[in-house]
Amino acid sequence: MTTMSRHSQGISIPKQWCNFLFDYPQYAVHDVPKEVSLPSNGARKVSIVPQQPLSLVTQSNSTREPYHEIPERLLELYAQYRPTPLRRARQLEQRLGVNARLYYKYEGLNVSGSHKLNSAIAQAYYYAKAGVEELVTGTGAGQWGTALAYACKLFGLRCTVFMVGASLRQKPQRRAMMELFGATVHESPSDVTDVGRKALQRDPGRIGSLATATGEALEIAHGGKRIRFAVGSGENCVLLHQTLIGSEAIEQLGALGEFPEYVVACMGAGSNFGGVGLPFLRAARERQRQLRLVAVEPAACPKLTRGVYAYDINDFSGTTPIHRMYTLGSHYIAPPIFAGGLRYHGTSSFLSAMYADKGFDALAVPQPDALGAGLLFAESEGILPAPESAHAVAGAIRLARENPADAPPRVILMNISGHGFFDLSAYERARTNTLESDIPDDAMLTESLRHVHEFNARIEQSSSRES
Ligand SMILES: *Cc1c(COP(=O)(O)O)cnc(C)c1O
Repeated sequence: MTTMSRHSQGISIPKQWCNFLFDYPQYAVHDVPKEVSLPSNGARKVSIVPQQPLSLVTQSNSTREPYHEIPERLLELYAQYRPTPLRRARQLEQRLGVNARLYYKYEGLNVSGSHKLNSAIAQAYYYAKAGVEELVTGTGAGQWGTALAYACKLFGLRCTVFMVGASLRQKPQRRAMMELFGATVHESPSDVTDVGRKALQRDPGRIGSLATATGEALEIAHGGKRIRFAVGSGENCVLLHQTLIGSEAIEQLGALGEFPEYVVACMGAGSNFGGVGLPFLRAARERQRQLRLVAVEPAACPKLTRGVYAYDINDFSGTTPIHRMYTLGSHYIAPPIFAGGLRYHGTSSFLSAMYADKGFDALAVPQPDALGAGLLFAESEGILPAPESAHAVAGAIRLARENPADAPPRVILMNISGHGFFDLSAYERARTNTLESDIPDDAMLTESLRHVHEFNARIEQSSSRES
C-alpha cells in the first residue's frame, strides 16, 4: 500500500511514486547497441543521459525499490491540483445503453490542461537543484510546453520551447500561454537551428514532427552551459512521475468498492498510459484480480498496431540514444491530426518491451471516431476531453459495447489526460463532419519503415563484426 498524506479536505495524495521497474526488471534493461553510425543527417552521437541529474537517471533505471519517495516541496506543489477527480460517467453509460460501469480520472484541471504537469514540476525541481538555469524542449500539441513553462516559472528557470508547426497553427493560444509564463517559443521546423533548417528543406510547409522539434531542442541544449533538454514523455522517469494518476485512482475506486477489469488510456509515447495503468497492474497482482490495460492510438500514427519492434531514434537529428521500441520510423511525418500529442513516431522502450510480451492490448482509432467519442463525452459528462484523451473515450466505449447484456457489467476506467478547450476547431470539424480520413496507406508506412529496417540491418552487421 502507498502511504498517503491526508489533506485538509480529507482527500489523499500519494507520497511515493510507484516504481514499475521493480515489478518488471526484465523490461528495464537499456539494450542499446554499442557503436552504430546513425541513419539520418550524419549527426553526432550524443547521449542525453549526461543531460540529466542523477536523481532522474536513478528514477529511470533503478529496479531496486518498489517506490520512490516524493520530495516534500513537490508534494506541496502537487497539492495545488491533486488529487484529481475520479468520477463515474453515468450519463454516458445511459446514453450508450451499455452493460458496463464507466469511470474516468480527469487530469485536465491544472494550468497546463493535462497530466504533463506531474512530470514537468518534478523535472524542474530536480534540474533546479542540480544548478541548471534553463530548460529547453520540444512539444507537440503544446501541453508539455505549457506544463514546462509553468514549472520553470515556479523554480526560476528560463524555458525555451520548440513547438510542432502544424499544432502551433491549430492552437496559437498555446503559444500565448507559454509566453505568459515567460517561455520563448519557436515554430518547428524553425530557422534557429541546423536541425530545423535541414528539416525545412524536406518540409517547407512547416507541418513538423515531434522528432524534429526534439532535435532542435537538443541542438540548443548541447550548445550551452547550464541548459538542459527536458523530455515530456517516453522515458521511465516521466512514466514514474505519472504513476500518481494510477495510485490515486486505485484508492478512489477502492473507496467505491470497485476494481476495474480494463484501464484505458491514449498512447503517445506512453506517459499517461503507463502512469494510470502500471500501478493497477501491481495492485491487480497483489489482489489477484484480472485486469487488462488497453492503449488507444490514433489510426494516423499506429506504431503499436502497424509499426515494428526495432531499434530507432527519438529525434530527427539522431542525437538521442537508440532505443528498441515500437516505431514507425523517425522519418515518419504523421498526418496533421488534432491529437498532436499522439503524433509521435515511437513509444516508451519499457512499454514496448511489455507490449512485445503481450503485457497489454492496443487498438487504433481514426480521428473522426475519436472526436465523435469526445463530443459524446462532453454532451453527457460536461467535460470536453483533449482530442488525445478522446481516443481513450472511444476505446472505452468500444470495450463497453462488446460486453453482452447478460454478462456481469464490465468495470472500465478511462484516463481523461487533458481538456480540449484549445481544440474547439477540431470539435467544430467533428460536429460538422468535415474531418478528413487520416489513415496512412501501406506505401507511406513502408517507405518510412524502410529506413528503420536499413538502420537495424546496419546494427546487426556491426554487432556481428564485434562478436
Ligand atoms: C501529451 C499528451 C498525451 C500523449 O502523451 P503520453 O505521454 O502518451 O501520455 C495525451 N494526452 C494529452 C492531453 C497530452 O497532453
